Amino acid sequence: MTRILERYRDFLPITAATPAITIGEGDTPLVRSRKLEKELCCGELYFKLEGCNPTGSFKDRGMVVAVARAMEAGSEAIICASTGNTSASAAAYGAHCGLKVFILVPRGNIALGKLAQALVCGARVIGMDGNFDQCLQMVRTLTQRHPITLVNSLNPHRIEGQKTAAFEIADALGQAPDYLFLPVGNAGNITAYWRGFVQYREAGRTGNLPRMMGFEAEGAAAIVHNKVIEKPETIATAIRIGNPASWQGAVAARDESGGIIDCVSDDEILKAYRMLAAKEGIFGEPASAASLAGLIKSVRNGLSLTNRKVVCVITGNGLKDTDTALKQAPSLIEVPADLAAIEQVVL
Ligand SMILES: *Cc1c(COP(=O)(O)O)cnc(C)c1O
Repeated sequence: MTRILERYRDFLPITAATPAITIGEGDTPLVRSRKLEKELCCGELYFKLEGCNPTGSFKDRGMVVAVARAMEAGSEAIICASTGNTSASAAAYGAHCGLKVFILVPRGNIALGKLAQALVCGARVIGMDGNFDQCLQMVRTLTQRHPITLVNSLNPHRIEGQKTAAFEIADALGQAPDYLFLPVGNAGNITAYWRGFVQYREAGRTGNLPRMMGFEAEGAAAIVHNKVIEKPETIATAIRIGNPASWQGAVAARDESGGIIDCVSDDEILKAYRMLAAKEGIFGEPASAASLAGLIKSVRNGLSLTNRKVVCVITGNGLKDTDTALKQAPSLIEVPADLAAIEQVVL
């Protein structure tokens, strides 16, 4: 099995002394669309299923590098602020490596599946009265004062590891796609993908670069409006971020690639979330659906993708947030233990 630390080591900040840890991250499926490709008139449409990573989101790609480097440096504890997935990932890799893990989350604003993952892995989870941006400020100060490794995407190893998703897409397609759609929260991922595609081209592995199409949630659209949002609001908790840490990286990815950073409403996100599951069988978490919502919005606004290769990144697994899922889905049909009653439903 070749996991990302091995397979892409030439592109990663690792040395002979870096422990080759893995719990199965990377190598996620790139699945061709069966229905939406035609409905949206794309030449080829693929979904990159990052929910298939070990903790159910792309965060594992960066976390494996950050934690391996922390181990190499002799660190005994890691900490992060999180809207959920970073904490699930930090908790898992921390547990795998025997590190102490501390997590600061905005109290009441994290999907229960993610909280459960962190708690079961043994992380010390602190729920703070405040939003994500305030949690991040707090852990920054804390790690300046104490010997604890910060594993938020401010840790440069996170973004380095996340580049590997771009490599996998290019390897699978034999070239970079023409367009890459993805959600934007803290903007580390769009920064990482762009760096990955650029480095792959520089290394002669591909001849082209994609246009980067990033989508924030309307109530948390700091980059779109070019101002910090003090009280970000969206149902897509993974992108409920008002002051993206990698703001400049996202703007550079947009401008250098000839792409866009736009926003989608919660209604558009939820509609795409249901479509993705009901038409393609792909159950992503709400934030993930911002990529498809963005694709739908772009096509509706006149973007023509005929003859184009398009990839939508589905960043996290739908099982993380079953509250939202059950509110969005048709309700359970309840029957007595009686064949006739079941036949009435089935026939
Ligand atoms: C973290 C996350 C995002 C946002 O990624 P950024 O790098 O913060 O822009 C989107 N979707 C999911 C599922 C995430 O976990």
